[in-house]
Amino acid sequence: MAKSKDKIREIVVLSGKGGTGKTSLTASFSALASSAVLADCDVDAADLHLVLPPTVLEKHEFISGYEATIDPSICTRCGICQRQCAFEAIDQPDGTGYAVNPVRCEGCGVCVRLCPVQAIAFTDRVCGQWMVSQTRNGPMVHAHLYAAAENSGKLVTLVRKEARRIAHAEGRSLVLVDGPPGIGCPVIASLTGADAMVLVTEPSLSGRHDMKRLITLARQFAIPVFVCVNKFDVDEQQSKAIELDCAGIEGVHYAGSIPYDEQVVKAQIAALSPVEFSQGKTSEAIKHIWELIWSRM
Ligand code: SF4
Ligand code: SF4
Repeated sequence: MAKSKDKIREIVVLSGKGGTGKTSLTASFSALASSAVLADCDVDAADLHLVLPPTVLEKHEFISGYEATIDPSICTRCGICQRQCAFEAIDQPDGTGYAVNPVRCEGCGVCVRLCPVQAIAFTDRVCGQWMVSQTRNGPMVHAHLYAAAENSGKLVTLVRKEARRIAHAEGRSLVLVDGPPGIGCPVIASLTGADAMVLVTEPSLSGRHDMKRLITLARQFAIPVFVCVNKFDVDEQQSKAIELDCAGIEGVHYAGSIPYDEQVVKAQIAALSPVEFSQGKTSEAIKHIWELIWSRM
């Protein structure tokens, strides 16, 4: 099928768990694609910047919801807020005065409304940061969610939206998303409206199980899935079983397998993707996988 020149394709690279080679593969694809914007949506443990060192151009706060703060100079210590907070988020650290525990505060605003002397401020909650950077393989949008902050799904949506905006503005044809691991809310946020999922798995029973869960999710979004088996030669029987699993599912394509290769670790240490680091068997395998995926987009 001929590609529309104006359409931006969005490819999301996912795996059932961390450490399967997802980020190395995303970085390799960005080197092979001529015109990509990268979106690192693994906002709880972003690591694309380790293989694609960024020059940060813009830095923004990620604000989501509100948090309450008690002003001790106004508080009369009546205790109403503590009794009424359904989340047990108001402590008495010194046994008398009251203070909001920011980790437990859900930002519901009940205490703010009930405080008889307006001693409680209700301010935007800064949950993290997001950045626009330049890398050697194109622009990258990436983010960092602060410890104990929630709403990573909302941050994933923001990172993708910004990456698409840059792709439009710069006339780039591809948004490459390094997705979060697992199948939770951030993964759903990374798939909504995407054009394809690249599923990276390892040849093991748990790898097959995770793969099937992600395929079930992709089918709910009606997007094609391209499966890659990393370190396929660690267990060739399981690798074959994965290939057979894919053959029996509509919309799922077996894109290829990548051998175990110590060059991948050396590439990571050199802050390079495998295809940029060496021209061996791993590079060749990844190139074939990318050509197959891009030809079907
Ligand atoms: S309701 Fe207001 S005045 Fe009463 S303890 Fe809480 S902050 Fe202090
Ligand atoms: S905003 Fe809601 S959750 Fe937070 S301290 Fe007040 S009552 Fe508790």
